[in-house]
Amino acid sequence: MPKGKINVSVENIFPLIKKFLYSDQEIFLRELISNATDALTKIQHLSSIGEVKGEIGDLGVEIKIDKKKKILQIIDNGVGMTSEEVKKYINDVAFSGAEEFLEKYKETSKDTGIIGHFGLGFYSSFMVADKVEIITKSYKDEPAAHWVCDGSPEYSLKKSDKKERGTEILLHISKDSKDYLEESKITELLNKYNKFMPHPIKFGTKEETIPGKEEGKDEKVTVDNIINNPNPAWTRPPSELKDEDYKQFYRELYPYQFEEPLFHIHLNVDYPFNLTGILYFPKISNDLNLQKDRIQLYQNQVFVTDNVEGIVPEFLGLLKGVIDSPDIPLNVSRSYLQSDASVKKITNYITRKVADKLNSIFKNERENLESKWNDIKVVIEYGMLTEDKFYDKAESFNLYPSVDEKYYTYQELEDKIKDLQTDKDGNLIVLYAQNKDEQYTYIESAKEKGYEVLLLDSPIIPHLIQKLESKKEKLKFSRVDSDTLENLIKKDDQVISKLSDEEKEKLKPMIESAVSDDKYTVQLEPLDSSSLPFMLAQPEFMRRMKEMQQTGGGSMGSMPDMYSLIVNTNHELVSKILNTRTEKKRNSLIKQSVDLAKLSQNTLTGKELTEFINRSIDLIK
Ligand code: ADP
Ligand code: MG
Repeated sequence: MPKGKINVSVENIFPLIKKFLYSDQEIFLRELISNATDALTKIQHLSSIGEVKGEIGDLGVEIKIDKKKKILQIIDNGVGMTSEEVKKYINDVAFSGAEEFLEKYKETSKDTGIIGHFGLGFYSSFMVADKVEIITKSYKDEPAAHWVCDGSPEYSLKKSDKKERGTEILLHISKDSKDYLEESKITELLNKYNKFMPHPIKFGTKEETIPGKEEGKDEKVTVDNIINNPNPAWTRPPSELKDEDYKQFYRELYPYQFEEPLFHIHLNVDYPFNLTGILYFPKISNDLNLQKDRIQLYQNQVFVTDNVEGIVPEFLGLLKGVIDSPDIPLNVSRSYLQSDASVKKITNYITRKVADKLNSIFKNERENLESKWNDIKVVIEYGMLTEDKFYDKAESFNLYPSVDEKYYTYQELEDKIKDLQTDKDGNLIVLYAQNKDEQYTYIESAKEKGYEVLLLDSPIIPHLIQKLESKKEKLKFSRVDSDTLENLIKKDDQVISKLSDEEKEKLKPMIESAVSDDKYTVQLEPLDSSSLPFMLAQPEFMRRMKEMQQTGGGSMGSMPDMYSLIVNTNHELVSKILNTRTEKKRNSLIKQSVDLAKLSQNTLTGKELTEFINRSIDLIK
C-alpha cells in the first residue's frame, strides 16, 4: 500500500486566503487599522512600563488616498517593526505577533485591549490590492525596512530611509476594487468599523467655525478630520456618567434616530468573562424602519457586526446599544455560538442585568416605569414567555395595567380581586380586555359590578396568559366578553329569574329556530335588567387558541367559531318576544336582538348589516 504525505505549500494556500478567508472584502481596512491601533497600544504600554524611554509623542493613525497613483495608505506612529520582525510576523502567515506580545507581556498587558489574534488580518489586504508595501521603522535603534509583495508568495525586503518611528502600509488598489479609492467609500467604512476605536484616526481635513477675535465674527479654520471618538461612553466608568451622557452617546451611535431612549443599562463585568456595553430601551413602535438600528457588537472598540443573534437573548433584540467583549468567539457558526458555554454565560449575564435594572426602576421610580410601560411591555412580556430565568425575576416588576390606567403587580392584583372575582371552583378570575372600544359594553358592565378589568393588548398576550395559568394554581384569565364572566355573575344570587321554568322551556326552541345557526349555543340567564337582552360570548379557551394560532405556536388545526348566545331572561324585550303571537314578527324581533348583540361587538358586517338596516326600517316605519 503506497503511503505518503500530502504536500501543502504556501502557493496553494495563498489564493485560498484571498478568496475565502473573509466573506466581506471591506474588512481589510478594519484589519489594517486594527494592526495600526495595536502598534500604538503597544508603544504606549512599553512606555508605561519604562521599556521605551522619553517622549512617544501624539499617537494616531492616518488614512490617505492617492487617486492618481491608485494607492490607499494606512500610517501609524506605533512600535514599528525591524527587518527581523517583518520576516517573522508578516512572512510567516498565521503567526500572530499580537498573541506573542500578549504572551511576552502577560503580567502587565492583560487589559491593554490588543485586538489581533489570528495572525491573518494583514493578508486580507490582498483581497483589494495587487501589490502591498510595508515601510516600517521600529522604536528600537535599527534601520527601517521596506517590504513589497505582489500577492504571489514571493516578496522583497530591503532597507529604507524612513526616519520616524512607525509603519506605513501602501495598498496598490486593484482594478476591481477601485471603489476603495473613493473618499465617500472610505468615510463610510471608517464610520462603520472604526467610529469608537481607542486611538485617533485622521482622514483628511475639515473646516470648522470658531469664534473669531472680534466679537460676533466667526472664523473658519481647517483642522484635522478625526473620524472617531476614542473614549465612547461604554468604556467609561458608570459613576462618571450622567443621564445626559448616555443620551448623547445614543445620538452618536444612531445619528438618524430622533426619539430619545427610555432607559439605559450599563454593562460592566470582567470576571469570569470580559464584557462592557450600554443597552437602551427605545420607544418600541410599529414602524419597522426603526428596527434597522440594532445592537452593535464590538471587540476592543472595533465594530464586528450588528447581528447579535445567539449572543443577546432573542427577546432583547428590540433593544439598541453596544456590547463589547473580546471573549465572544467570532470565526464560528451561529449554531455553535448558541451551544458555547462562555457565550451562554454572557447571554445569561445580559438577561440578568436587564431584569435587575427593570427591578430597580420599579423599586425606585415606579411612576416612571408606569408612564413608559406601554412602550416597553412587549419586550418584558416576550422575555417572560421565552426565558424562564427572566420570568422568575420579572414576576416582581411586571405590571398589569387596568382599563383605567392603574398598574398592578401580580401580587397587588391578586389582593385586590380575590374577594369578588372567584368562580365556584375557587379559581381566581382575572378579567381583561384586548381592545377598549370593541369590548366597551362588556368592560362597562363588568366595572358596574365592581370587577377590575385589565387592558392586555399586546399580540403575544394569549401566549403569556397561557403560561401564567400553567405556572400558578387556580388562576384563570378571562376576557370580559367571554362566557366565563357569566359564571362570576351567577354567584350574585340576588338576581331572581322573572321567567318560570315553563316559560323558559318555551322560549329556548323559539330562539333556536329563529337563529338556526350551528355556531350559536343558546343559553338562558337571569341577568339584571340593565344588561343587554342578548349577548354573544365566545368561550375563552376557543378564542385564545385561535389567537395563538394567528401569532404562531399551537398546532390545533383550524378552530371553528363558536359562540354562546346569552339571553337575558329578565329583560323586558325577552318577555315581549315570548308573548309575541305571530311567528314572523317574533322571528324578526329575535333576529334584530341578535344583530344588536353583534353590533355591540363590532362584528355585524356585509350582508347581515344590510339585512339589519332593512329590518330596522320596517320596524320603525
Ligand atoms: P494579528 O493582528 O492577528 O497578530 P495580522 O496578520 O493582522 O495578525 O498581523 C501580523 C503581525 O504583524 C501583527 O501581530 C504585528 O506584530 C505585525 N504588524 C502588522 N501591522 C503592524 C503595524 N502597523 N505596526 C507594527 N506591527 C504590525
Ligand atoms: Mg491584525
